Amino acid sequence: MKTQPSIEKLYKFLSLEAQRGYDNGAVMGGLARMLENWATEARNDGLPEDLIGAVETRLRDYGRLTPKSRAEVLQGLWQRVQRSLKLPERMALPSPQPAAPARTEPQPAASPSPAAPRPASSPPAAEPPLPPEAFQKPVTAVPTIGPRRASTLARLGIHTLEDLLYHFPRRYDDYSQCKPIRQLRYGEQVTVVGTVEGVGVRKLRGGKLQVTEAVISDSSGKLRVTWFNQPWIADRLRRGMPVALAGKIDQYLGRLVLNNPEWEPLSKEQLSTKRIVPVYPLTAKITQRWMRRLLHEVVAQWAGRAPDPLPTWLRERAGLLPLPVALRQIHFPDSWDDLRQAQRRLAFDELFVLQLGMVRQREAWRQRQARPFPVEEPWLEARLEGLPFALTAAQRRALEDIRRDLASGRPMNRLLQGDVGSGKTVVAALAMAMVTHHGAQAALMAPTALLAEQHYRSLQRLLPQTTPDIAPEHIGLLTGSTPAAQRRTTLEGLAAGRIKILVGTHALLEDPVQFADLQLAVIDEQHRFGVRQRARLRAKGEQTHILVMTATPIPRSLALTIYGDLDISVMDEMPVGRKPVLTYLLMPRERERAYRLIRREVAAGHQAFIIYPLISESEALQTTPAAVEAHRRLQSEVFPDLKVGLLHGKMKPDEKEATMARFRDGEFHVLVSTAVVEVGVDIPNATVMLIEGANRFGLAQLHQFRGRVGRGGQQAYCLLIPETENAARENERLRALVETTDGFVLAEKDLQQRGPGEFFGTRQAGFDEARLRLANLLDVHLIEQARNLSQELIARDPSLQAPEHRLLKQRLAAFWREGRGEIS
Ligand code: ADP
Ligand code: MG
Repeated sequence: MKTQPSIEKLYKFLSLEAQRGYDNGAVMGGLARMLENWATEARNDGLPEDLIGAVETRLRDYGRLTPKSRAEVLQGLWQRVQRSLKLPERMALPSPQPAAPARTEPQPAASPSPAAPRPASSPPAAEPPLPPEAFQKPVTAVPTIGPRRASTLARLGIHTLEDLLYHFPRRYDDYSQCKPIRQLRYGEQVTVVGTVEGVGVRKLRGGKLQVTEAVISDSSGKLRVTWFNQPWIADRLRRGMPVALAGKIDQYLGRLVLNNPEWEPLSKEQLSTKRIVPVYPLTAKITQRWMRRLLHEVVAQWAGRAPDPLPTWLRERAGLLPLPVALRQIHFPDSWDDLRQAQRRLAFDELFVLQLGMVRQREAWRQRQARPFPVEEPWLEARLEGLPFALTAAQRRALEDIRRDLASGRPMNRLLQGDVGSGKTVVAALAMAMVTHHGAQAALMAPTALLAEQHYRSLQRLLPQTTPDIAPEHIGLLTGSTPAAQRRTTLEGLAAGRIKILVGTHALLEDPVQFADLQLAVIDEQHRFGVRQRARLRAKGEQTHILVMTATPIPRSLALTIYGDLDISVMDEMPVGRKPVLTYLLMPRERERAYRLIRREVAAGHQAFIIYPLISESEALQTTPAAVEAHRRLQSEVFPDLKVGLLHGKMKPDEKEATMARFRDGEFHVLVSTAVVEVGVDIPNATVMLIEGANRFGLAQLHQFRGRVGRGGQQAYCLLIPETENAARENERLRALVETTDGFVLAEKDLQQRGPGEFFGTRQAGFDEARLRLANLLDVHLIEQARNLSQELIARDPSLQAPEHRLLKQRLAAFWREGRGEIS
């Protein structure tokens, strides 16, 4: 087979770059420049999209890496290309020039030999590693720990030797770097080192308050230090004692003071050796000093003998410290750089088991057989011809991804991610047509009856007109409110295969729903469904192809973490002619302007949403939400001449549905609502989204609200009114929303502000979040490295059977909770 031109080109430049010692000079202006045309060429060559994406991400930031990382990145990237396209062995990248660091020697990718020669850089193996079981011994194995101490340590979650070794410092102090007292400034968070000059206890307020006061000095000056209600401190401090104190500099009567600092006595060595000192999380009855001594002993005795779960080749490729070194350095670092390296190594371990689990799951799916559903080009072209619009390029790409999956003979497991309004429904519709084309059935599940109905209508509109073998009666609808008689006919039709496509809610999952031959299950707004519900839908067929859709934009790092076991298609483009929603932040006193805009839009035949937050937690329990009150006022005072509808969470599901349906049918000009209106509803005629109490909503939610308008091609408006003027000025989220309509940009912001756990309930992904202690889920580079190496490891040893992978396999089992067998 001939190598594709785009691959030839990539090979040529990467080889040249390797020969040059990774100076980013193989392409004029830097390697990233080559991306301008390359992706297009690669697509023309039909290269897989994930590979193109990998090349793009690696090369984009290439110039910013150190030569050592560059070598790693390019070697890793090229090996992935080689593997994925099954390129001949001889097309390996040349070894780096002598100038480049020795760490990066290319790996003999094809040889899984565990007995690779130990490189000179590893430390001499002083003592052989102990078996992993040795580290599961209780802490009482340490001579200085008796039962009493053991139970105190248990309160910190420390039970075994391993727990102790992995009890990492929460921060480090470098006493050699402390500021002299004279240079301290008000408000600073500081560590001060000095000598106790004097100490005393005073009683205030008739003895109710005991104040311990001390004066600390260094060669530059003196500082007053105060502790409230901790009189025992006075007994421990002695004149002339060297101490370190950490806290925030405050002010009292015009002088700088330190209130309630953490403190500890220092030894002479600590002051002179300029060592970076670990500061551990503690609990009552344990002092910093004791903990430090304990860990010193434990690290000296055990760290060196910790068995490394990472195979040597992998550890070296990633440029990571050996585990014993990392454990030693994270507790007692020789330098800040050593510390950083140790943290990187241990963070990598965490990310690696995470990715390994993902990759293994994904490979397991890939091993399975599924029925192939290939469609010919002319067939597809004919379907597209029949659509009322041309697909966007993003829609085409997603459709091609799906088409390839469905034809592959392996079960599709794909996430289709596209911002609100990017047109996911039509892509899903065509995917379903590919399957019914071969006589099989497809299902589309949505979180609410309203959405299911909306999808049903869209499919009725889109499919029969483009696809002759799908007539309107071939598409069925099943929700909780489907009347019994109709339900019966639908179920009969489904079992007999007369119904080819079934759209519905959770009702699809019920037992009586039997398909004749379900081959594709599409799940809309997937985050609204649990893992079990998806599994149930899948189980209605055999090796069913799965397509899940979401409008929640997920930053790449998090997507790799949460959806690492899925293939992802991203639709990052809106249909043409869609005008971005104009977003304004109004002061509360400018509310009348918002009302004027609503009147104007209604006069032009359009409709408006007005959203109210729940005012308090307890309001969720009360019978009348703020929206009810507001509705009364808006209808009687503000818009007496308009029809104002009301929607809130206290209403019964069918009442809500009916209200939404009436709004959609134009019975109301304005709909007042609580947050229930959030997901997926398509009211093309609505052009105004007014959000009251906007400061109370999260960024993602606000973006979803905004996505409810501007779906019909007219200019639409989103008006944000926070509760106070201050909120209007200070709320960063609201300003971000005004500045951009790009869901991905907003998601990144949201993620930074809230952190991954809250952003996307990582618990939903099925792993134990608490085990990610050092790993930063936003560190794309480290995550990608962990991912690539996971893939490589699984390719070599799919079920981790080799003896040198035993420990890794154990960690994997511990990390991933039981019962994870389904996509998230
Ligand atoms: P979402 O991705 O939010 O589910 P929908 O599938 O509901 O978006 O599509 C939003 C609207 O855009 C629908 O009215 C749909 O008919 C329309 N639409 C989808 N694709 C295109 C396109 N390529 N050109 C024009 N309009 C489109
Ligand atoms: Mg949708």
